[in-house]
Amino acid sequence: MARYRDAVCRLCRREGVKLFLKGNRCYKPSCAIEKKGTYPPGQHGKDSKRGKLTGYGEQLREKQKVKRIYGMLEGQFRNYFEKASRQRGIIGENLLILLERRLDNVVYRIGFATSRAHARQLVNHGHVLVNGRKIDIPSFQVKVGDIVSIKRESASNPHILQSFETAVGRGRPDWIEVGDRQVLSGRIVALPRREDITHQVNEQMIVELYSK
Ligand code: SF4
Repeated sequence: MARYRDAVCRLCRREGVKLFLKGNRCYKPSCAIEKKGTYPPGQHGKDSKRGKLTGYGEQLREKQKVKRIYGMLEGQFRNYFEKASRQRGIIGENLLILLERRLDNVVYRIGFATSRAHARQLVNHGHVLVNGRKIDIPSFQVKVGDIVSIKRESASNPHILQSFETAVGRGRPDWIEVGDRQVLSGRIVALPRREDITHQVNEQMIVELYSK
């Protein structure tokens, strides 16, 4: 499937905020936003001014931001929106919760991976189990009671172990009960709520954009 292959830090600089796409580096002073500031990427980025966006422009940027955080393509993202619209409740919140419940996001949130892109790779390569069964579909939706773990053969993978250690520093959400280094698993104890999603996004703008 087509994916964005360019330097991901450009995406953060394009949006003017940290989207946390590059693993541990996002938490270090070497982060491009920390080092270069929030001016847009490109040769003339520093000299260019971010003009005031129109209402449509703001809505579009908000959608792009959420798409990029979760590594979605337009079609996939639109499908999530359609699904969120058919659910009860507030559409924008439904959308974010559906994205949070993706298996690749859960693997990242538990700390088996340093970024969602890394988490997607772990899932695709068959390192991840749900309730003891291999699931290699990153979009798989977890539900309450599911146990997400790393398969025994991969439990000594140094990248996974190192990610797991460093994830403590970035904090883990309350809706996942995370085991220790020996267990390498996380149990979904509740569905995520809007307040569990700490990225600064205005999901209502996405609803307005798609409702035009
Ligand atoms: Fe974004 Fe992370 Fe790159 Fe910083 S290091 S600009 S947060 S992807």
